[in-house]
Amino acid sequence: MRSSALPGARGSRRPRPLRSRPLRCRVRGRIPLGQAALRAGPRAIPDAAQLQPRGGERGLTLPDGEYYSEIEVMPRRELEELQLRMLRAIVRRAYHESPFHGRRLRARGVAPDDVDSFDDFRRMVPIYTKDDLRREMSGDNMDWILGAEQPISLYSLTSGTTGVNTVLALNYGFLDEIVERLFMRQFWMAKLRPGMTAFQVLAGWHFLGLATNMAFSRIGVRAVAPWGTSIHDYVGEFVESLLRWRPEYFVGMPWMVDAMIEEGRRRGIDPAELFRGVKYLHLAGEPITPGYARKLLDETGVRDVFDAGGSADGIWGGSDCEHHSGIHAWMDVNFLEVVDPRTLEPLDYGERGRWVSTLLIPGGPTVLRYLGDDLVSIEKERCECGRTHYSVHIYDRVGNSFTRNGRLLTPYDISLALEAVCGHRLFTVLNPESSGDTIRLLVARDGDDDGCEGASEEIYREFLRRFGVGVEVRWVDVRELPFSHRKLIRVYRDEGGDAA
Ligand SMILES: [Zn+2]
Repeated sequence: MRSSALPGARGSRRPRPLRSRPLRCRVRGRIPLGQAALRAGPRAIPDAAQLQPRGGERGLTLPDGEYYSEIEVMPRRELEELQLRMLRAIVRRAYHESPFHGRRLRARGVAPDDVDSFDDFRRMVPIYTKDDLRREMSGDNMDWILGAEQPISLYSLTSGTTGVNTVLALNYGFLDEIVERLFMRQFWMAKLRPGMTAFQVLAGWHFLGLATNMAFSRIGVRAVAPWGTSIHDYVGEFVESLLRWRPEYFVGMPWMVDAMIEEGRRRGIDPAELFRGVKYLHLAGEPITPGYARKLLDETGVRDVFDAGGSADGIWGGSDCEHHSGIHAWMDVNFLEVVDPRTLEPLDYGERGRWVSTLLIPGGPTVLRYLGDDLVSIEKERCECGRTHYSVHIYDRVGNSFTRNGRLLTPYDISLALEAVCGHRLFTVLNPESSGDTIRLLVARDGDDDGCEGASEEIYREFLRRFGVGVEVRWVDVRELPFSHRKLIRVYRDEGGDAA
């Protein structure tokens, strides 16, 4: 048994001490999270309120340091002890309050008090998917089947791109907690500060847009929400809003920034002029490679690009910090596992698999071992910033992955290989399941005279070195790449791909 095993991974029975970096600040007090506190409901859990100053709405104080909350640097062992207490409480709550989870636990003969360790949790509690939930969903029973407490403040619907809308029922206490414990820390870490003007392109109907606006309000940020829910049809308005309001902070998706840069160029506006005054880009929704971040820094002139993750479900999110060594996902908000995509067996640090999330905030929808659609790994190395929580790398959605030499690859890996030779390029992987061992790519030329077009031998060697297979590159004009609306299809399959 490796003492460094992820909690819940093969062979780990108890949270084990991990070496942690020296603390830069002390954590005030222990978190008295007991069963009684949990039974009393979500507001009885005092950590958010006690460990950190309340955020910046009128009369409230904000931290003056780099950390929003001292819990961000709590020793890992204490975090794991806290997680285990919260996990046990969540299992108990799911068993008694959620018909969906309660039935699944009873079907396995699991009683709440049976779960006494991470290993028990992993062995006893079944994983579920969105489809499992959809089978029991009737449209208006989401709060009930997942055990959310009343009153509900928001029913948030997804776009239903995969056929059926899913509904997230959020109650008042839960929404408050998740904004405080997840969004406030995330934005503070990514340098959002009171008095800034922030461009906010996340749709108001989406849970992430709502929570982001709540965090802005608490921090004391002036939000600019441009006209048009989706940039597909409104990129012109987005560009005009950016020029008119000159925000210091930008929250959006990577492909939106690309589309705005393209629209700016069409109007004869240089990207550095378009983004003049913007200090930070805070982007989510697609994996961001170092080369892509470099390109954005060079073109737009911003100080930094923060990666808030490519997770489609957004429930365990976080952001990276200025050291960019993975997404810091808060361990007192989520218990995160990584499982083998085929066998669903738990994996260890550094191993790539699908994430499984258990939400540790009680009172809202009970999320108990939910299997996500993204490929991730949790890294063992601690970040230089001193934060002790998980560092997570997100590679892409499972649907955008393909196998070579027994390894699951995604456009993220392909991008790293191309970047090593050429720097950032836009590309599409073609029919990966029917191209034999070779990886077939359409790569867009960077300008009319792309020097890398002659580097096919170096690119081939780089692919062979990294993946053990060759690559066939066809250089094209960017307009020849397949786009869905304004979003690049990164893996193209004749039968359809990249529904993201
Ligand atoms: Zn960090």
